[in-house]
Amino acid sequence: MERTKGSTAGLRGHVAARGRGASNRAPLERSGRNLSQFPRALIAWQRRSGRHELPWQGARDPYRIWLSEIMLQQTQVGAVIPYYERFVARFPDVHSLARASQHEVLRLWSGLGYYARARNLHRAARIVARERAGHFPDNVEDLARLPGVGRSTAGAIAAFAFGRRAPILDGNVKRLFARCFGIDGYPGEARVTQRLWTLAESLLPRRAIEPYTQALMDLGATVCTRSRPRCAQCPLRAQCIALREGRVSDLPAPRPLRARPLRRETWLIALHDGQVLLERRPAEGVWGGLWALPRLAVRSDAVQGLLGAAPLRMRRRVPFEHGFTHFRLRVRPMECEFAARPPARPPRTRWLPLAQALRSAQPAPVARLLRALANEADARPARQALQRAGRGARRRRRSPAASA
Ligand code: SF4
Repeated sequence: MERTKGSTAGLRGHVAARGRGASNRAPLERSGRNLSQFPRALIAWQRRSGRHELPWQGARDPYRIWLSEIMLQQTQVGAVIPYYERFVARFPDVHSLARASQHEVLRLWSGLGYYARARNLHRAARIVARERAGHFPDNVEDLARLPGVGRSTAGAIAAFAFGRRAPILDGNVKRLFARCFGIDGYPGEARVTQRLWTLAESLLPRRAIEPYTQALMDLGATVCTRSRPRCAQCPLRAQCIALREGRVSDLPAPRPLRARPLRRETWLIALHDGQVLLERRPAEGVWGGLWALPRLAVRSDAVQGLLGAAPLRMRRRVPFEHGFTHFRLRVRPMECEFAARPPARPPRTRWLPLAQALRSAQPAPVARLLRALANEADARPARQALQRAGRGARRRRRSPAASA
């Protein structure tokens, strides 16, 4: 529920107050500054202390800016940079990305998470290459029609690539606005989101849209952080309502608590002669298009039913949990070793040598399991040598004459 303390008239009042003088206690007025000072302070700070060396900065190349903005959705700059560099080395322009197979795009994306972004990126590249002769739209409305490009991403591309006065409102910017202007309510709630968009529009500077947009991103990521914001270094500290009212840790309001349902799955790790069986997930749905481990029904004969042969050896590996936005997944991995390759091969599966399996496009928990298997396989000869040496030493202790 939205609290009333500190929220006063909210944004509607704030926007209206611009023409009504100081009688309306709108958020910006309570901060003691006028609207134009907010972008001015941010632009000056960005030129002085913001980020200027990111690999996608310095050129108005819509392809590279679009690519970086898609990668930066829900992911931090440090994690994005190596992926971005690999992508532009392999796909230097939108045509080369459009020509690639979805599998190759997913393989290069593997590990960055939120794989729907990669599938949408590929679809959008094909639209731009085939329907627009490689030219990206230069306005927010048309950019936002591309798969995977929401209003905020479209605003960022329009600002950086085409110098358009377009607002952005990603998670970091929502937090910054909520604190600086004392906006209550969970930012994911429609009416709060609408209020924040109206604020974002009203704050846009007439000039210098690029440093302003970059400043919002940089300040949200490096100063007005979720935990332990560095208010002493913040260019907005003189006008920040949350700081003045001691509510920095209360804003923005957290997502209302809602229990995420728990799903359970048993994953089959079928092994034969250094090879592992992988299954390609259907294009739509969780981990669509990625290579994962086949799922097993919880039945004693499930393995035989799936592959047509009983394993030589079975062992349960340590179960684990993986979090998604809307549910939690509890996984029980079941390792089964086969003496010969099983006769049945379920649809969308293939046997791959472990090293090759590790190079395929796969979700992070599958990659972790495969890496653990590979490490165990590497350690096996040394472990067997140690066991042989131990058995030899015990034999020699039992019969000293033999070793004399
Ligand atoms: S003063 Fe602190 S809480 Fe306010 S905008 Fe700056 S960093 Fe965020």
